[in-house]
Amino acid sequence: MRRILIVDTTLRDGAQSPQVTFSVEGKVRFAQQLERLKVDVIDAGYPALSAEERAAVERIAQSVSSTTVMALAHGDEVEIEVAAKALAQAPKKRIHLYIPVSDIHRRYLLRGGERDEVLKTSIALVEKAVSLADEVEFTPGDAARADEGFLKEVCCGVEEAGATVINLSDTVGVAIPSKWYRVVKGVVDALKGNAVVSSHCHDDLGLASANSLSAIEAGASQIHGTIGGVGTRAGNAAIEEIAVALKIWGEELGVECLLNLKEIYPTSRLLTMLTGCMLPSHKAVVGDLAFVHTIEEHRMAVVKDHRAVQIVDPQSIGRPSSRTPITRYAGRMMFEQKVHELGYTLSEGQLSKAYQLFSSIAWKKSDVTDADVAAIVEEVISEHGSEWELVSFSISMESGCAPRAKVSLRRGEVEVEEEAEGNGPVDAAFKAVERATETTARLVDFSVRALTYGKDALGEAIVRVKLGNRERVGRAVRTDVVEAAIRAFLKAIDE
Ligand code: MN
Repeated sequence: MRRILIVDTTLRDGAQSPQVTFSVEGKVRFAQQLERLKVDVIDAGYPALSAEERAAVERIAQSVSSTTVMALAHGDEVEIEVAAKALAQAPKKRIHLYIPVSDIHRRYLLRGGERDEVLKTSIALVEKAVSLADEVEFTPGDAARADEGFLKEVCCGVEEAGATVINLSDTVGVAIPSKWYRVVKGVVDALKGNAVVSSHCHDDLGLASANSLSAIEAGASQIHGTIGGVGTRAGNAAIEEIAVALKIWGEELGVECLLNLKEIYPTSRLLTMLTGCMLPSHKAVVGDLAFVHTIEEHRMAVVKDHRAVQIVDPQSIGRPSSRTPITRYAGRMMFEQKVHELGYTLSEGQLSKAYQLFSSIAWKKSDVTDADVAAIVEEVISEHGSEWELVSFSISMESGCAPRAKVSLRRGEVEVEEEAEGNGPVDAAFKAVERATETTARLVDFSVRALTYGKDALGEAIVRVKLGNRERVGRAVRTDVVEAAIRAFLKAIDE
């Protein structure tokens, strides 16, 4: 069986999505989760980009125990040195070089050049990087639109120079599976076999995962992807889609991928928790509705044998089951058992808080599903010693009048009450909170969604604010979306 290596680039390419904002601390936590997911390589970032990016790569390099950490350097030697330095403490260091090779990208993108110049620079940079890292990955950018002869020339040149991985990038997401197969196969056949061939696909045609699988069939042994397929424009190949596809078809393809599938769903939830990015509810594998059946016959079949209508057991990818809801009468012991069953370990204090929140929610909701319990636990885990506490709030609305909100907040011994008008109830509430806390945060984005299915579903609110230059995210779940929104806002400005 040929082993397929997985490179997670959520922290770099994924973070190019305007919906994905990580703090440095958040990046470290996410990298540690990627290690539990057992990805082979963590693409930690581009250290030459900024001091914050550099700090994040350094912290990730220090915080993982065995996973290879990769850092990007574009086309010059100084950036390679910066990347190598940031990776210094990684268990295994990989430098990633990116140079555009298609004519159109050479012409219009930074650090382009004539073909022979690109070839010479690529070789020189690989030689430099080889002396500073354990592994060197070279990406010829926009490979799908490059002249195939020139692409092979560059790939053979950098292989000769010591690149250990050649990562063909469909930077603009234009490829279709048959085309991508030919491009990858062409390079695999041209190389001497010293470098691993890799594929990096974008989803502009909705084909990133399909193209990645084509690349594997063509001989690629490494795939780049992000959790939930997040990334710039339409995003990247979704790691979870490829991993599940390989679980089903790996044997037939003669390949295997050693990802710890049980950690797929928790990783996607952590992404939402840390960045505020909500994945589309119909997204394959990790979407909220990905395992919800509406056809009666199918619902009955799932109970008898899920394989009849489901290609994968949701619990095998770490999704909490909703088969055994717990009710408002559940005692603390039963709640604790459920939390444990879902794979969470909480401190005594966290457990008390979570139980309290569960009890208050359970009285407003007929059944509390596993997904609800998971959301409650995640809310408690993500708390970071919030300064402000919501004591009470009220909203008054009447058609024809601007909604008014009154909030009462407590910080230590001090209680503050403020009122404000707004365009809508949530806007009014945020304005009242801003007055009460005297914050200068600017609201960037606010979203709310039903977390589970059904009319009394829990509402999850995610608020993104800008404090100075930094974006902060707050998240909260409640049966009442206005309350969830206020709490999420308080968390965002408190961070
Ligand atoms: Mn990309």
